[in-house]
Amino acid sequence: MELINNNNPNRPPKRDNNSGNSRGPRPQNNNNNTGIGNDAPRSGASRGQAVRALKRTQMDAQRIANQYQAAVAVKPGRANVIDDTPRLKVIGLGGMDGGGSKNMILVEYMDDAVILDCGNDLGVDLPGINYGIADTAYLETIKHKIRAYIITHGHLDHIGGLPHIVPKFPAPIYGSKFTIGRVEEIFENFGLPMPEGFELRTVTMNENTHERLKVGVFFVELVRVTHSIPGSTVIVLDTPVGRIINTGDFRLDPNPLDHERTDIERLKELGNEGVLALLSESTTVERMGRTPSESTIEQSFIDIMSQAPGRIFVGLFSTNMNRVQMIINAAVHHNKKVAMDGRSMVSTLEMAVRHGFMRVPKGTFVPIASAATMKDTDLVVVCTGSQGEPSSALQRMANGEHRHVKMKEQDTVILSSTPIPESGNDALIGTMVDGLVKKGVHVFEHRNHELDGVGPLHVSGHASRDEYADMINFTKPKFFIPIYGAYRVKQRHVELAIEQGIPRANTANVNNGEVIAITPNSMVVEGEVPSGTILVDQTGALVSNVVVKDRVLLSEEGLVAVILTIDKKSGNLLTSPDIISRGFIYMRDNEEIMNGLRVELRRAVQQRFKRVELDRFKSELKDHITHFLFEHTQRSPTVIPVVNVVGAKGEVKTVVNGSHTKTSDEIATEQQKRFQQMRARLLSQDPRVD
Ligand SMILES: [Zn+2]
Repeated sequence: MELINNNNPNRPPKRDNNSGNSRGPRPQNNNNNTGIGNDAPRSGASRGQAVRALKRTQMDAQRIANQYQAAVAVKPGRANVIDDTPRLKVIGLGGMDGGGSKNMILVEYMDDAVILDCGNDLGVDLPGINYGIADTAYLETIKHKIRAYIITHGHLDHIGGLPHIVPKFPAPIYGSKFTIGRVEEIFENFGLPMPEGFELRTVTMNENTHERLKVGVFFVELVRVTHSIPGSTVIVLDTPVGRIINTGDFRLDPNPLDHERTDIERLKELGNEGVLALLSESTTVERMGRTPSESTIEQSFIDIMSQAPGRIFVGLFSTNMNRVQMIINAAVHHNKKVAMDGRSMVSTLEMAVRHGFMRVPKGTFVPIASAATMKDTDLVVVCTGSQGEPSSALQRMANGEHRHVKMKEQDTVILSSTPIPESGNDALIGTMVDGLVKKGVHVFEHRNHELDGVGPLHVSGHASRDEYADMINFTKPKFFIPIYGAYRVKQRHVELAIEQGIPRANTANVNNGEVIAITPNSMVVEGEVPSGTILVDQTGALVSNVVVKDRVLLSEEGLVAVILTIDKKSGNLLTSPDIISRGFIYMRDNEEIMNGLRVELRRAVQQRFKRVELDRFKSELKDHITHFLFEHTQRSPTVIPVVNVVGAKGEVKTVVNGSHTKTSDEIATEQQKRFQQMRARLLSQDPRVD
């Protein structure tokens, strides 16, 4: 299986050496090759070329892996030292660049600190990596100050880092009822055990009553906003230097389906009382005008349902409960039943119903298991998979791999979302839709709604430009800090703020780790604390950057292992050298090269094995094989020489690139254990959500 996604813009272009991009061997000058360690190489230029090529490959891999690097120590003497001067420090440990993900902002005042949001980054595209979280090296130095985590809403890019970070820096988590429900859920589903004695502490706040809670020297209030998940809020933090507001993700829908409008009155009130700094999300600042109301798409579903000849499937984001409510309404309108699939969606729905966010008439839902026995015209299926995710419910139904439902001719599929920008999901969706159309399924996508003669099928959960301007005008802040977005987008937000009358000197567009120091009269960016990304795999375990670099190397160039069994006494090979390759070249098509390599290996053993130390021998062998393969294929795979030295009594000593020894049984047991851990973790992820 190919590990790499060739569409990934982050990958370096394939090297284009003299042989072009051909994977096969290039024609060879079959000169008489010299053996290992021979001081007269057959062509000095070629050896140099091989070394340079290898270096280049390694640097490429390093560069890819380094896109997500852990924190490196920052020059001491700046914000990194204990600092108890009376000013507020605002530091984005995440969310200040890279498209707005792993959102996490630290607010620190003398002996107290709170963390606003604590998300993960599901957009990390590295082999075997599930997501990234913010590096918390800086928190180690202020551990004793941390009083609370305060969360704006329950999307994973705002809560996904909590199960990793809170156990290390324990403090209660504050949020709206729905948000806390989501937080408890991700802790329950977390794959790894929590440390001994850890206890999850949560504080539920009412976002409608303007209740204020004291947290250290701060006071916290949550204010209701409209977004694409229930219970979304703005955080109002009153600090000793003044009031700051973190908007979280929002839009100002005047007519949301659940009537949970953004509490504009309260925002204006807060503005009139005085706001020192506004930290406003920046996701879609580049979008002109206003985001249309969710209610503008309701009729589209009713229209499609009245025309669909058979079953209807709607794919959407698992946490978008307003949208689910809309589909339920349309289904009820047409006397249809609703079945639901996708683990994360079902659990979010249960929570939304429990917390009174949804109105579902009795008897509307039917279990997905009974879908097959229902009359086609009676059934609406709501499921995940609108981004073409390979293992989603919708994809499995489309592929005929779903236990209960298989798509067929005259089914209708509605994709009620748009591809997440810069995610590469366009291609996944395209492939899925191709498959559906081939089956004779009617597919409705938002982007083609005019072509299909239906109304819009999706609206974004984020504000557009005019609404971002409104937020500034409601809250009338003295200082403006754009957050949760790419640097260039945040800069647009700064310009927008200036248009609204904020002096340029009162704005700050910062990177992760940069310290914004605020007093009642001043805001300056001064110094930096360590920041970075920690990578997490499917099991929830942290993965070292070094491991990721190896994976990238393997995925780009493949692996060649040679296994030599040598008689200790005579120094002769006891068997023909074994050559194993994976992801390099197809050995059967390249027997000549492999035979040539065997000849080289025999020569190497004869000439060098008895003359040098084993480690030196192996290192020479590695260089020699690398050179040989580069010369014949223009490729630099990872080379692993394995030397079995059989002693007098016939015992075998295996040495793999160093001195540690593992039996194959041990390796197999280890792998099996790891695989079971992966299987055990079955949390279906909600992607970054529009
Ligand atoms: Zn969100």
